[in-house]
Amino acid sequence: MNVAVLSGGVGGARFVRGVVEVAGGESVDVVGNVGDDVEVLGLHVSPDLDSILYALAGLNDEQRGWGRAGETWEALATVRELGGEAWFGLGDKDIGLHLVRTQALRAGDPLSAVTTRLAASLGVATRLLPATDDRLRTWIDTAAGSFPFQEWFVARGHRDEVDAVRFEGEETATPASGTLEALAAADLILIAPSNPYVSVQPILAVRALHGALRGRRVPCVAVSPLIGGRAVKGPADRMLRRLAGGTSPRHVAGCYEGLVDAIVVDEADADDLDGLGDVRPIVTRTLMRDADARRRLAEVALGAVPA
Ligand code: GDP
Ligand code: CA
Repeated sequence: MNVAVLSGGVGGARFVRGVVEVAGGESVDVVGNVGDDVEVLGLHVSPDLDSILYALAGLNDEQRGWGRAGETWEALATVRELGGEAWFGLGDKDIGLHLVRTQALRAGDPLSAVTTRLAASLGVATRLLPATDDRLRTWIDTAAGSFPFQEWFVARGHRDEVDAVRFEGEETATPASGTLEALAAADLILIAPSNPYVSVQPILAVRALHGALRGRRVPCVAVSPLIGGRAVKGPADRMLRRLAGGTSPRHVAGCYEGLVDAIVVDEADADDLDGLGDVRPIVTRTLMRDADARRRLAEVALGAVPA
């Protein structure tokens, strides 16, 4: 069975790892978010792609939840000492990857080709593709002003309530080579338990990817990132409350209108399944607290092919 997964960063990476462990790395294609990409200290950082890469390579830091295990921070400490741009957490090992990526991009390689090479070097068999090789950037509109995604998320600690999310470059962004093929070859499409607004929507902002999902001939199953109406981490619940009017399964499913056939929701949300319409609810435990839990969730999602 071929599986395509749309994924953001940390929540997505955990889930993707489970899917790969259950289905086998070679049958899984991942389409990742690049709306969070940011240029820091002259480096091109792709936080969501890297979270997935590190998780699949087993290099991720489980405790911190992002970045690499055994990381050191000497370079950033030096940057701070020298009065440089130190607001964005970059570890030494992580910087090594960004150096390689940035040089290749400057030499004219598309991000998808660079990402494929990085994955191969890290021994990752899963195909990991950015949604687009074009410049696509998430902007957050708030009462305090409009901010590029990482400025709102990291520098301002996502404290400002979100009025709207926009994607710079969405009119012209074309799907990265391999992404449409991955969706076309899939027997099942999964949407990871990622933030719908700032992790999945920027993938769907690439019109052709949205079109491919809308015209799919195979089931598409989303996994909710909320448990008991609350985000495990991050601002997804606040965003849903403000932008969709609530945090029930129907509000999550509403972010994917016409794009999903089923939604995997947590047992804690099982008494709130009204208003899902044609979207079939699948109730299970969705907290990926350890390897067993993430594999169990992946099994449920992989088994969720509606009749
Ligand atoms: P980011 O790009 O690093 O912000 O990561 P994602 O968008 O991929 O994931 C963030 C979302 O993952 C948050 O809304 C969390 O609620 C969700 N999440 C994290 N861990 C879990 C988990 O174990 N189970 C579920 N269902 N959602 C999770
Ligand atoms: Ca992200």
